[in-house]
Order: sequence, then structure tokens, then C-alpha cells
Amino acid sequence: MRIILLGAPGAGKGTYAQRITKRYSIPSIATGDMLREEVKNGTPLGKQAKDFMEKGVLVPDSLIFEMVKKRLGSEDCKSGFLFDGFPRSYSQAVYLDKLFSERNLVLSSVINLDASRELIIKRLSGRRLCSKCGAIYNVFTMPSKKPDVCDKDGSPLIQRNDDKEETVLKRLQVYEKETAPIIEFFKEKGVLSTIDVNNGDIGQLSEKIFSVLDKSKK
Ligand code: AMP
Repeated sequence: MRIILLGAPGAGKGTYAQRITKRYSIPSIATGDMLREEVKNGTPLGKQAKDFMEKGVLVPDSLIFEMVKKRLGSEDCKSGFLFDGFPRSYSQAVYLDKLFSERNLVLSSVINLDASRELIIKRLSGRRLCSKCGAIYNVFTMPSKKPDVCDKDGSPLIQRNDDKEETVLKRLQVYEKETAPIIEFFKEKGVLSTIDVNNGDIGQLSEKIFSVLDKSKK
């Protein structure tokens, strides 16, 4: 299966991506995670991307395209994958479309997570990540058993730099201007399903997503 997960920052893409990739045994291609890893390792790509990420704006396409193309060529992507955080602009959607046709790949489904602004702000300001395994928690909606400690491996939980308030507002602005318009792009292709994630727990909403994906299995 080849899936794209769309949604504003904080809509829950990372959380649902973990569940979807587990259920369908496919890797997640999360461009934000890949970029953070590059920054952490101080690679040339990481050095170029860092400033953009800290400001909450999009990293230039040239850097993203190179990274995505390379990742798609990996062995584990042969039987499918899930994109989380890509494409993020009209130019990226067009690029992906072209890449798919060049490689004779068919897009199975695009899931658009629809969350209210209120929920998004609550999610982002409360989000915490395990500094070791990357497990996602939320101090309001999905707290760890012990405050600031990962349930899985006992490592400290951290807040992403770009989850601080000023950057969150910028990221939401960027989403509205750059990313929201691509919803229409995929709607026109007939592959888009929008899931309202404002009500219901993660388990119920995951089931809703699975039933859409099961129907689109290709
Ligand atoms: P995320 O973890 O998906 O919220 O991404 C964190 C940051 O990484 C974003 O605010 C952007 O600066 C950058 N980023 C992630 N994915 C992309 C992408 N597809 N295109 C451009 N910038 C991206």
C-alpha cells in the first residue's frame, strides 16, 4: 500500500502513522523525523535545513526532493510506504505525482486528518517525545504514567523546539497557506478521504482509518 497522511501540525499524523504502519507492515517516510535526524547528526543537509525548521517554515524543495527520492529507492519501500509530512506544498504534490508515474507506482489512498485549531494548539503545546525511542505522549490527552518519563524505556521526555508557542503559530500559518491547498489536488484525483479527528479516542479513530484503507488496498 502507498499512503499519504495529510493534516495540520498537531492533527495526530505521527500517532496514526505509527498505527497504520504497524497494521499494514509498511515503513513510514516522515520527512520531519528524517530532517531532525540530519540536524542531530550535523550533516550538510541538516545544517542547511536547521534554520528553516527553527523558524517553522518549509525547508526548500531541492533538499526535500533529494532526500525523498533516495528513501523511496530503499529495499523496505518496495512493498509500500506511508508518507507523513510530505507532500507539504503544491510543488511537492506535483513532484510526487511525477515520481510515481516514472516508477509506475499507484497511490492507494490519501488520508486527511481534520482537526480544529483549538485541538491542534492543545496537542502541540502538550506534546512530549521520548528522547530515546521517539514515542509520542501528550500531557493533556495521552500522558505518560510517570510525568516526563517514557513508559517504554524510562528515558526523559522532551518538547520539540518547534512546539514552542511562537513557532507553532508560524507552522499553522504555513500549513494554511502552503499545505491545505493540496487537499484539493488529491480530491480531484479521487483518492482522498477526510477523517474528523475532533471526537473519539485514538483507538476508534484508527479503526475508522483502517476501514478506509482496507477498502483501498492495492
Ligand atoms: P514535522 O515534524 O512534519 O512537523 O516537520 C517539522 C519541520 O520540518 C517543518 O516545520 C519544516 O520546517 C520541515 N519539514 C518537514 N517536512 C517537510 C517537507 N515535506 N517540506 C518542507 N519542509 C518540511
